[in-house]
Amino acid sequence: MITVKTFVFNPFSENTYILFDETKECVIIDPGCFDKKEEDEIVSFITSNKLIPTYILITHGHIDHVLGVNYLKNELNIPVWVPKEEEQTYNAVPSYSESYGFGNYKHTPADYLINEGEKILFGTSSLNTIYAPGHSAGHAAFINIDENICIGGDILFSGSIGRVDLPGGDYDTLIKSIKEKLFTLNESMVVYPGHGPTTTIKQEKATNPFFVDQ
Ligand SMILES: [Zn+2]
Repeated sequence: MITVKTFVFNPFSENTYILFDETKECVIIDPGCFDKKEEDEIVSFITSNKLIPTYILITHGHIDHVLGVNYLKNELNIPVWVPKEEEQTYNAVPSYSESYGFGNYKHTPADYLINEGEKILFGTSSLNTIYAPGHSAGHAAFINIDENICIGGDILFSGSIGRVDLPGGDYDTLIKSIKEKLFTLNESMVVYPGHGPTTTIKQEKATNPFFVDQ
């Protein structure tokens, strides 16, 4: 049984997630911690709950989702897993980090590239990898069908969708991804987005203004 812990980090109010099960093994998804207070907050949660970190996963390579990768990789000595189609976007972060006010950003290359459909194991739990491009070129979501968990990054938000004006963004691709990759999941699936509150597939099908017929 997976427990999802949410942190809200950095000036973009980005959601960082830790998923763990009864074995205490955990994965850290989209670590956006960027100052000492946020770094201490996530490490002390891991320490005080006696969690055993396995990997850092990222849904997509935008700066607000990866600000804490370098620190956590070194602090916890765990590998960084990046969706294969997203590697280029991820490796572009140093080219614009300073202009976003993060001159101290240190980049960490991926240790492993995740394929679409790949199963990611931790403890007695697993996550499946879905590719859903549009917000970025190789954006992935990590899902557990049995437990209704979808770590969705910036694909679908409560009442909204991801921006498409950043490099690799494309509106039609994003709408198609959501319809074909997310709206085909169980309606009870809980979406844990990269920003803002959780939602469900049922709720977004019924009320999201990008999909409800006017
Ligand atoms: Zn993003």
